[in-house]
Amino acid sequence: MADPTKNPTANPAAKWDLAADVVVVGSGIAGMAAAATAASRGRSVLVFEKGREIGGTSVLSSGEYWVPNNRWLRADGIEDPREDCLRYMARLSYPSLYDPSSKTLGLPANEYALLEAYYDRGAEAVDHLDEIGAIKSRYSPDFDKPMGKPEYNAHVPENRVPFGRHLLSEGGIHTSGQGAFLIGGVREYLEKQDAKVLHTHAVKGLIRDGEGAVIGVEVTDPSGRVLRARARGGVVFASGGFSHDPVLSHRYLRGRLYGSTAVTTNTGDFLRIAQNAGASVANLEMAWWGQTPLELALEKEGQLAGMSYFPWGDSMIMVNIDGVRVVNEKAPYHDRAQAHFHFDPTEKRYKNQVLIQIYDRYVAETPEPEGWHKVRAPIPPVGQFPDYLIVGETLAELAQEIGARLESLRAHTGGLALSPEFLPALEKTIERFNQFAREGKDLDFGRGETPHELNYSPPIRAGLKNQTMAPFEETGPYCAFLLVPACFDTCGGPRIDGEARVIDADDRPIPGLFAGGNCVASPAGQAYWSGGTTIGSALIFGYVGGLNAAMRAEQGA
Ligand SMILES: Cc1cc2nc3c(=O)[nH]c(=O)nc-3n(C[C@H](O)[C@H](O)[C@H](O)COP(=O)(O)OP(=O)(O)OC[C@H]3O[C@@H](n4cnc5c(N)ncnc54)[C@H](O)[C@@H]3O)c2cc1C
Repeated sequence: MADPTKNPTANPAAKWDLAADVVVVGSGIAGMAAAATAASRGRSVLVFEKGREIGGTSVLSSGEYWVPNNRWLRADGIEDPREDCLRYMARLSYPSLYDPSSKTLGLPANEYALLEAYYDRGAEAVDHLDEIGAIKSRYSPDFDKPMGKPEYNAHVPENRVPFGRHLLSEGGIHTSGQGAFLIGGVREYLEKQDAKVLHTHAVKGLIRDGEGAVIGVEVTDPSGRVLRARARGGVVFASGGFSHDPVLSHRYLRGRLYGSTAVTTNTGDFLRIAQNAGASVANLEMAWWGQTPLELALEKEGQLAGMSYFPWGDSMIMVNIDGVRVVNEKAPYHDRAQAHFHFDPTEKRYKNQVLIQIYDRYVAETPEPEGWHKVRAPIPPVGQFPDYLIVGETLAELAQEIGARLESLRAHTGGLALSPEFLPALEKTIERFNQFAREGKDLDFGRGETPHELNYSPPIRAGLKNQTMAPFEETGPYCAFLLVPACFDTCGGPRIDGEARVIDADDRPIPGLFAGGNCVASPAGQAYWSGGTTIGSALIFGYVGGLNAAMRAEQGA
């Protein structure tokens, strides 16, 4: 075992205040999966949680996790071949590198190994947590479909399994708050194993021995006292992203972030701690992206209540300040939201920083089918007029109101204003969109051509050739709101290997330091493979990190 008295990063004479085989930092799903796994091997476990509540963002989430080749698929005789799945993951994660003829599909060795680990260890992680009774999994059902919704990218040729990789824990349904069942099961399990979960304990730094191995952490208790906690096998960080640190967000993300649904304690602590320990970092420009109405983001300091996931409505478009469409409005939220970050090299500005969602009276006044109210948001329920809504009796009046609203918010948009040609351009855009809707084919962005888009746009009127598109009514009123980029949390940070070990610039593991979830450079790279990519990554690499830290303790570290 490494000698703690050689520790160069803390007073060698100082005593340990607390000790466990495995120390976990953060009580979201990555941390809880690590803790449960280590405890299941009979190891003593200490979980430090900075917030007052246990469960992080995970407990608030809809609780779905994406797991290829899972046991429910296999039981149903549905094959999810490794090679196809890796190709699918690699193509979406690293589109500019992807090369199907290469041994690593064109990816650097470690990034490829992470995809392999996700595929190889995912089902193992789910099965283990199920066997020990911490998380009882099943297919994630949706409405009356037991296997749930189609994959977000079911149409991509490499994707051989359009249904069945979305899993959910028992209890509840796939909607916000389902995470309570996910985290609740693990909490109960940890209590039975006598694992300690301490809230209001913020980990501040690592304690390392003379060889650089991580042997513990410094943690502030609720009274502000700094404690030294010994970790005999290792420390697993699972402390979420940095979306609530404005300095880090501004420094790293690829564009302006207006809000995050993550818990406000996710301030990138591990990014600073691991960089100081020599970890290499990646994916820092990325987050799990979405969109939100600008005014909602501005009025809500801290945690954002919700995002626009699956834009509602058939006679509905999104345009930029030039009045032109710039994205397939029905594309998955993570991909669609990245349209905001396009830089105009001629005008030297981000002309899509604010997009304007516009729809007609029919969409505004037609209630959604039963059960779809959450998908309808942020289009307000029929008859409601929240402050962020902009209404005009004619397109000209709407354009004027949008211009005035943008003007009043210019301090928050880098001074964006509608282009002088906005109204005629918008009229042309709508005319062109109406033609596409009549013909059932969106020649500009291919809207409504994937199972995912069709799934989230149930027909709200008869007679459409493409249920996601209907011509705008010729007379108003028309409605609009301003949309800006937001996220679930960031997904860049220290790099890990396939064993969830944090690695340095030469891909060498830092002994005793493991991590998973949103605090690391996501194994998914730039992709959101489908619903459940974030919890899937957190659960799988949390499990792997917890297992390896436990094994290290067993071997006497
Ligand atoms: C409404 C909603 C629905 C969602 N639905 C889904 C879904 O269905 N599927 C999906 O994949 N994703 C979903 N997400 C996103 C998902 O919840 C997160 O990406 C995921 O839960 C992150 O897990 P994590 O363990 O990495 O981090 P978190 O769950 O955010 O946990 C990190 C924890 O670390 C703690 N912490 C931070 N710093 C320290 C420190 N220094 N010391 C100690 N503790 C620290 C934080 O307080 C926090 O509790 C949803 C999110 C929301 C808000």
